[in-house]
Amino acid sequence: MRKKAIIFDLDNTIFPVPQIGYTLFAPLFALIEQAGYHGNEMDQIKDEVMRMPFQRVAQEHNFSETLTNKSIELLQELAYNGDMESYEDYAHIQRLPHDKYIVTTGFRKMQQSKVDRLGLANDFKEIHIIDPTTTKQTKKDVFAEIMHRHGYKPEDVMIVGDDLHSEIKAAQELGVYALWYDKEERYKPVPGVKKIKDYGELLKVLGSL
Ligand SMILES: [Mg+2]
Repeated sequence: MRKKAIIFDLDNTIFPVPQIGYTLFAPLFALIEQAGYHGNEMDQIKDEVMRMPFQRVAQEHNFSETLTNKSIELLQELAYNGDMESYEDYAHIQRLPHDKYIVTTGFRKMQQSKVDRLGLANDFKEIHIIDPTTTKQTKKDVFAEIMHRHGYKPEDVMIVGDDLHSEIKAAQELGVYALWYDKEERYKPVPGVKKIKDYGELLKVLGSL
């Protein structure tokens, strides 16, 4: 079945967050260290901040309400103004003839600055930023809304991302083909989820469906 639409995540799917993360999040990391998080836990927090929505990191590390609120206040104002590059295999995505979408979760100003710095507007039909500080919507809601609005059936769509617990899970719940992008081969394979490390493989997968 030929896919009509492909929905991509942004962070660690279009570009590697660690490329900008240490600079971008420096004030946040300082705030968290001041609150008493150090050593191994701090390393883990830094890694997670670059891979999942902040609200999830705060919850998993039992941040106090004060620290969570202060961090969110800071993150709502952060934007990235430096140079950014997409993954080297991004050119494969640019050449795909499909309707392409980005759905990303994060602070609006920050996510918008990444979209702008990467110059993504012309490569995608729609770009959606889900900011958990202003909406209760989930990725699953936005995927479903895109599919409904454009009349895509589940079999018309593919969803691509690096987070098993976010876009991959949502795709599976909607009965949509999920493709797991693991550029750095950080993760062990999981049964039932196709994992790739290069978008050259995406072309092969599309050809095989
Ligand atoms: Mg991601």
